[in-house]
Amino acid sequence: MRPIAIVLILLLGCAPSAEREAADGETGLAIADDVVERLERFAPTELSADLSSLTEEDREVLRLLLEASRYMDEIFLRQVWVDNPKLRADLERSTAPNAEAARTYYEVNFGPWDRLDEMEPFIGDLVHPEGAGYYPTDVTREELEAWLEQYPEARDAISSLTTLVIRDGDGFAAVPYSEAFREWLDPAAAKLREAAAVTSNESLARFLESRAAAFASDDYYQSDIDWMDLDSPVEVTIGPYEVYEDRLFNYKSAFESFVTVTLPEQSAALERFKAELPWLERNLPIADEHKNFDRGTESPIRVVDLVFAAGDTKAGVQTLAFNLPNDERVRESKGSKKVLLNNVLRAKYDQVLTPIAARVMAPEDVERISFEAFSSGSLHHELSHGLGPGLITVDGRDTEVRRELRELYSTLEEAKADVMGVYNTLALAERGMIDQRIIETLEPTYLAGLFRSTRFGLHEAHGRGNVAQFNYLMEKGAVVVGEDGLFRNVPEKFPGAIGELLNVMLMLQATGDYDGTREFLDTYGKATPELIAAIDKLGDIPVDVRPIYTQVDELTG
Ligand SMILES: [Zn+2]
Repeated sequence: MRPIAIVLILLLGCAPSAEREAADGETGLAIADDVVERLERFAPTELSADLSSLTEEDREVLRLLLEASRYMDEIFLRQVWVDNPKLRADLERSTAPNAEAARTYYEVNFGPWDRLDEMEPFIGDLVHPEGAGYYPTDVTREELEAWLEQYPEARDAISSLTTLVIRDGDGFAAVPYSEAFREWLDPAAAKLREAAAVTSNESLARFLESRAAAFASDDYYQSDIDWMDLDSPVEVTIGPYEVYEDRLFNYKSAFESFVTVTLPEQSAALERFKAELPWLERNLPIADEHKNFDRGTESPIRVVDLVFAAGDTKAGVQTLAFNLPNDERVRESKGSKKVLLNNVLRAKYDQVLTPIAARVMAPEDVERISFEAFSSGSLHHELSHGLGPGLITVDGRDTEVRRELRELYSTLEEAKADVMGVYNTLALAERGMIDQRIIETLEPTYLAGLFRSTRFGLHEAHGRGNVAQFNYLMEKGAVVVGEDGLFRNVPEKFPGAIGELLNVMLMLQATGDYDGTREFLDTYGKATPELIAAIDKLGDIPVDVRPIYTQVDELTG
């Protein structure tokens, strides 16, 4: 049927809409009736950065980094689903009444599945493949595991962060990203090298060169090290990073990019927490044998404004802070860098967190939320990703928490980072290291944050982990709901419950306990009637923001 549709369009040229709709029928696109309402859950929000202190050279570098980043959109689109390019083309031609909203929502989701709705399709009815575009769409966890039992020598390549898995005869084969995505990685690398030639900042030039080389070699180690050492007014974080998109095994990394302008004063104000990381590790509520004293502690902290984002990070719920790289070898030798996206945080606080708190929390708690606590919570969430068990030993075997917990890893790790962030902030407060304003507003702001993230959907790693925190704290009486349906913190119980919850999570990680993690998430990760009633009250409040990067045209135009 497809060739006929194409011929029709060619013949008709600027066809009247009736014929176009006939062609539309040929593509068979079924768009969900409520696509406009789905899209409205993301508040369009203009994001910009202060470029006034940048030199002409910085602006030229910024332009080249933007151009390199756009290729990450193309790669990620294919990582989400192999047939995305075809669907995008069909959607482009669609003249259905809600086609415009469907196109925008497709861009938000990088595919036809709703990331806020447990990957339910909003275009067509295809079930979302758990292995995304990384594996054959029909493969199951059991099938691949069974094959790997037979061919253990293939395990490293198949479970690599930077390969695609394809069928090969009766078995499987791994294709390196450098081959699979060469069409976009080569030109992206060329742009990075151009930017390296323009910049007079040595740390940036070194990273851009080594990252460009990594795009061709799949060896990201040296460029991850160079990224840690970046110190430049204009920076980029570009490459394959997070593994959330691989719901089959959490092995495969997704391409993304953040193009940012550094805020030096705000960054300097947070640097003092770096020195506390060894103390924070010692202070964790687990036995010393499970603590991780070997990690590097360079751990730079950056506050930046986002100028443009591409790929994985742009899909669905927007990243507000990150902690990279994920490579445990880099973490052991140098630690990891925390980056707070200041303008994204502000947008979410104003558009989402504040209205949510006003709707579901008791008035005295609503008054005690603050942007400072929200931003600080994000920082301590990110710092926490660099603390606790990473490389572990299970039954005498050296392994990683990530490998043992497989597809449950992200959910537990994200929840751990939330809880540890609160635990560490309380501990640092006792040592006089946290501003009074943040101490006073920490707990209600954290609670409002749980409601905010719970709306991301139970299937999403961050969302399900939030429900688990919420239910655990309710069970311990640290959070209560009144007859008015409004929630409040119980300050006397809160710190104790946070410590107990953190202990549970860290021990699941330290022992690489897959079954225990499953049981924990099954027990606590389900939304209760009280929580569902509260979430239902938030219907008209945006779930997240949809950034409009206002400076891209100005810079690239
Ligand atoms: Zn996180």
